[in-house]
Amino acid sequence: MASTLSTAPVLGTLGLVVAGCGGTPARPPAPAPLPSSIAIVGATLWDGTGGPPVTNAVTLIRRDRILCAGSAGECAIPKGARVVDARGRYLIPGLIDSHVHLLFLTRGSAGEELGLDLRDLLAQGITTVRDMGTDPAALLSRVRSLQAAPRVHAMQLVAGRRFFFNGFHGTRTARGTIYRQPPAIAMQQLGWRPLQFDPGDDAEALVAAARKAGAMGLKLYAHLDSSSVRRLTEAAHRAGMPVWGHAWVQPASVLEQVTAGQNGVVHAAGLAGELFTVEDRDTLVRDGDLQAATAAVATVGAAHDPRVLAALDSMASRGTVFEPTLDAVRHSVASYDAKLRHIPSLQEEYVRSASRFGMEVTRQAVRRGVRISAGSDHVSYGPRTDRATLFGELRLLVDSLGMSPTAALLAATRDAARAVGGQPGRHIGTIQKGRYADLVLLSKNPLEDIANLEYVDLVIIGGKMWRPGQLRSGIAMN
Ligand SMILES: [Zn+2]
Repeated sequence: MASTLSTAPVLGTLGLVVAGCGGTPARPPAPAPLPSSIAIVGATLWDGTGGPPVTNAVTLIRRDRILCAGSAGECAIPKGARVVDARGRYLIPGLIDSHVHLLFLTRGSAGEELGLDLRDLLAQGITTVRDMGTDPAALLSRVRSLQAAPRVHAMQLVAGRRFFFNGFHGTRTARGTIYRQPPAIAMQQLGWRPLQFDPGDDAEALVAAARKAGAMGLKLYAHLDSSSVRRLTEAAHRAGMPVWGHAWVQPASVLEQVTAGQNGVVHAAGLAGELFTVEDRDTLVRDGDLQAATAAVATVGAAHDPRVLAALDSMASRGTVFEPTLDAVRHSVASYDAKLRHIPSLQEEYVRSASRFGMEVTRQAVRRGVRISAGSDHVSYGPRTDRATLFGELRLLVDSLGMSPTAALLAATRDAARAVGGQPGRHIGTIQKGRYADLVLLSKNPLEDIANLEYVDLVIIGGKMWRPGQLRSGIAMN
């Protein structure tokens, strides 16, 4: 199979012309012809830097990088460049979903389904994804063999001892005692590889193991105290690796995670942890206990509790990025809504309170200036309609929280690049000279209506062009 789809047929359908008259005599001479240079001409350019859109723009690509992007007079079209006539269309940075889970060895996404899902993400204009925890080495080796996929970066899951050995104590409920296996076992059965970290362990050694597995950073998952969070964060930062964590990581609270220097926090509903004392947080070991406790305290009013707001203010002042993952919770609520008759469960109660509380926490976060990344918690298996999407997350940020489409787009481009962080984050997220040529050309204006992100004409990743239909159908990919 060919390694990539040739750009020629794609360009042909857009009206390929060869430029030879890129400037007037008064201007400096056009640069010498460059191999593999492409000029996207006439689009309205929204470059993701926070500035206003530029009409009738010229964006130049050389090999896999952006050479120039601006108004027609700013970027002289190199002689011999391929020109894409993009008049009437809208050019934005490639989208970033900073929270996905791609590899499920026992659910079918280890093989063909992984490739299909990644092609579908690319067809949506998503050119970078960050896997927030599966098996970095196994995932990255599979992705390397794919011919069309977003850039994939992987985080290493880390959890404390009780995640791996919970003593098999039961949880007492009205219907008797429920015995659960340690959460790590369920995770390992999916083919994931969480690393264990205990208070006396060597943080540098864990960071080295994560790096060896190919991870770009750490994702702190559960059962880590504030001192462990701090030691892991400092060790990872010394190695140039970002650290993210669940809000909260039991017993460490969000406020403790933030003051430890963690780069980001995921799941808005987890801010409910701020409402417990450190002693109470330490007793919430099992999922059932955690869900019951959260369901009891996570009201809309609780999102205004001074302890929650203190954590959000700390995030805002330190620049800690927040990923609310609202669409994933919305999917869970919808699945309960779709069941006409069912016995109410603790999980349902938890999901419904987490949804209401999480939405209000996010509203407060936006109001208080916390930087938002629109990572979706997308998973790459199961019915497509059940999967959270970046598109769904952005719709919620705009339609339910009242963010402007521009602010939402920043949460999937510039700010999502900051969420990804590390070395990879410095090359993506905006259309600027030197960044990767990861771009999306839309036929409708997403700044007017975020739903217009559905109208993808062309996806460009590292200078390679793809039609959504080709990616989804697999036609012309062999
Ligand atoms: Zn997740």
